[in-house]
Amino acid sequence: MFDFDWEGMWISEPLVAADLFDKAKEVARSFVYKSGLQNFYNKLGAAATFFPCKDILNEPTVLLTKTPRIPGLDGRKMSKSYRNVITLSESDEDIRKKTKGMVTDPARKRRSDPGNPDVCPVYDWHKLFSAEEPGRLEWVRQGCTTAGIGCIECKAAMADNLIKWIAPVRERRVDYEKHSKRVLEILDDGSNKARKVAQGTMDRVREAVFGWEKKKKEIGGAAAKA
Ligand code: SF4
Repeated sequence: MFDFDWEGMWISEPLVAADLFDKAKEVARSFVYKSGLQNFYNKLGAAATFFPCKDILNEPTVLLTKTPRIPGLDGRKMSKSYRNVITLSESDEDIRKKTKGMVTDPARKRRSDPGNPDVCPVYDWHKLFSAEEPGRLEWVRQGCTTAGIGCIECKAAMADNLIKWIAPVRERRVDYEKHSKRVLEILDDGSNKARKVAQGTMDRVREAVFGWEKKKKEIGGAAAKA
């Protein structure tokens, strides 16, 4: 039984709180590594000493986007259970309402206080959604650090870009929701592609551990003689 949690789709990528970022990268790296290659070494035991694993298997690494660290609306780790996310099903109105309440640089208590975009979750979101808009990131940095802009207009500009970004994604989501069969086909296609890659890896491993091709010929020859 396969059940889609459509509401659970939110705009996060690998989203982690700022202070956990480096730790999370390390955990992700070691998880990928340990779940694959290290596990394989362990299974080989003492034989691993004689086995040229490094030439057969590539040590996995973590692939990060340009904006790997995006906090939730409240500045904490983005999580559905914290209710600090924007889901793909939300209306433009809800997006504006939620982003209006986003946490900002706490140093900007008054409109006249200069701020620091580098400690502000709204700027993190700007980096994700406003990077394509010429001059917008500079506008935020300049306006924030000189108190030339207020947080309300800064958030509104970010919400405009978020809404532009989310509109086609939301459309596709609605379409897929109506056509769940197509989603299953896409998942099947992906599984088939992954299976081919996994088979290639296992071929290399068998060859390295057992001399698989030679072994097959030996067994085949013996069977023919019998
Ligand atoms: S102006 Fe923008 S970047 Fe600066 S503190 Fe306010 S919301 Fe954050």
